[in-house]
Amino acid sequence: MAKSDRMQELFQARGMKLTPQRQRILEVLAESEGHPTAEAVCSTVREKMPTVSLKTVYQTLHDLYEFGGVLQLDLGTGSTRFDPNTSGSHHHLVCDICGNISDVELRESAEELIGVSVDGFKVERVEIVLRGRCTNCQDLVGDRVPTAKAHLSAGS
Ligand SMILES: [Zn+2]
Ligand SMILES: [Zn+2]
Repeated sequence: MAKSDRMQELFQARGMKLTPQRQRILEVLAESEGHPTAEAVCSTVREKMPTVSLKTVYQTLHDLYEFGGVLQLDLGTGSTRFDPNTSGSHHHLVCDICGNISDVELRESAEELIGVSVDGFKVERVEIVLRGRCTNCQDLVGDRVPTAKAHLSAGS
């Protein structure tokens, strides 16, 4: 089943109407691979539906998050990223230069830490963020280049 179908079912299961806007927002999110911001989702949705408001996009993403259909990531890039891959065992590679975020499955099992007690604190989730330079940015020397958006909308 397509990812967007699963997301749509989460709304339907709660008796929420699947308006064409909602459907399109979920499709765009499901197809995105770059962990988009709400703004990035919104601008892609507007290519086909120019009247959709950023507020509607935020609300839909927030609802979907409440339903467990998307992860919210704060990776220190300045705005919340939405991740349609809800598998708890994947982690993130964050490029310092362009801000590109990609998924990685680590062979070393971070899950072994789940359930461990650290000074009485019980670990329930482990999130690993690996920072560095993506393949596109490895040849660049020096400071940040302001091309974060190019990666985000390209879908790979
Ligand atoms: Zn990069
Ligand atoms: Zn991810």
